[in-house]
Amino acid sequence: MERSAEIVGGGFAGLAAACALARRGWRVRLHERADRLRTAGAGINVYENGLRVLEALGASDETLRGGARHLARETRDQHDRLLSTHPWNVRVYGVLRQRMIDALAAAARRAGAEIITGSEGAGATPEGELTLANGERLRAELIVAADGVNSRIRDALGLVAKRRALPDGCIRILIPKVDAAEASDGRTIEYWSGNRRFLYNPCSETHLYLALTMLHADAAARAVPVDKALWSRSFPQLAPLIARIGDIARYDRFEYIRLKRWSAGRVAVIGDAAHAIPPNIGQGAGCAMMNALALGVYLDRSADIPAALAAWEAAERPLTDHTQRISLLFGMPAFWPPKLRELFYFLAARSRWLTAQRTRTARHVPTGT
Ligand SMILES: Cc1cc2nc3c(=O)[nH]c(=O)nc-3n(C[C@H](O)[C@H](O)[C@H](O)COP(=O)(O)OP(=O)(O)OC[C@H]3O[C@@H](n4cnc5c(N)ncnc54)[C@H](O)[C@@H]3O)c2cc1C
Repeated sequence: MERSAEIVGGGFAGLAAACALARRGWRVRLHERADRLRTAGAGINVYENGLRVLEALGASDETLRGGARHLARETRDQHDRLLSTHPWNVRVYGVLRQRMIDALAAAARRAGAEIITGSEGAGATPEGELTLANGERLRAELIVAADGVNSRIRDALGLVAKRRALPDGCIRILIPKVDAAEASDGRTIEYWSGNRRFLYNPCSETHLYLALTMLHADAAARAVPVDKALWSRSFPQLAPLIARIGDIARYDRFEYIRLKRWSAGRVAVIGDAAHAIPPNIGQGAGCAMMNALALGVYLDRSADIPAALAAWEAAERPLTDHTQRISLLFGMPAFWPPKLRELFYFLAARSRWLTAQRTRTARHVPTGT
């Protein structure tokens, strides 16, 4: 018998869930409140775990079209001195966010999912009733809340155990490459200057993705459009690159969210709605997509939806919890004096234990792949 799911939110989490469920024979309808599927945030890094999920969902080739393979991550100080090099022993790609959203949406539609834009979820009950903002009520065997960090569906169910606005945030920007050869040596570089960070990250054949991270209290540094004179003073070696930054940029403060449970009755909560993660190891979307695919797998194993959701959380949550902890750890040097930060990166590059912790999520073989 065909089972039905209503999904709220058309980001990476919701679209991955739509693919995973539709490919398993569910009748899937996804509601996105915006008038089209789009993503803010320029580029994104996808690691081995996320790539495996994209392959399992049929969205990998399109996502990686023109993407930039990363071979190593360097950390440098404001004098351009190398603090550490982390060679990747797993696949890592920088890609355009919009390309990944479009690829997942196309894969979901191919699998039979219906995607409705301009449709806003307002609340859901554990019994499986979704209320839309226009007052319409829809019943389904499964409701998936994938409505991001400010999830209304999650909040109405009282699932939040902890929510913290973190003391740092980031401006994300795309700039056109000068030519195809620019930034094609497989390096991403994170530069530090005081509390400020500058990530130089190729993400396509045509664009570079820059992520400028600062304390939220550093109002001058988080201003948009970017204050190029200020950032050039912090990173003089990057002044010619900073001069190329245009006016289109986006600032987001980092958040951390933990839920009491990832589900309530027939409602599953996924993605940032369930586990917003600061992006210090770049795994928020990776975890969102892994958990979305695993949701489909666990629901296949049992007709009892609340029991399947409990089994899904028990199996998948420990890795997401670990990812949150490690990501918080790698954000801490922002609050340390430069000498301590240098020591941390010196040790981080040499410690096999720390490297193993940092790459555990990337090396994980996701359920369903
Ligand atoms: C600076 C920065 C850099 C990052 N870099 C990386 C990285 O390199 N790699 C990585 O894996 N992750 C990264 N992340 C994390 C990643 O961006 C998020 O984890 C991911 O986007 C979460 O996807 P989502 O689908 O859960 O939420 P969202 O992307 O927020 O999508 C939610 C969707 O739901 C819609 N919506 C909201 N409310 C409603 C409603 N009531 N009804 C209907 N629709 C609704 C929204 O319009 C949106 O389309 C980064 C995050 C930041 C801030």
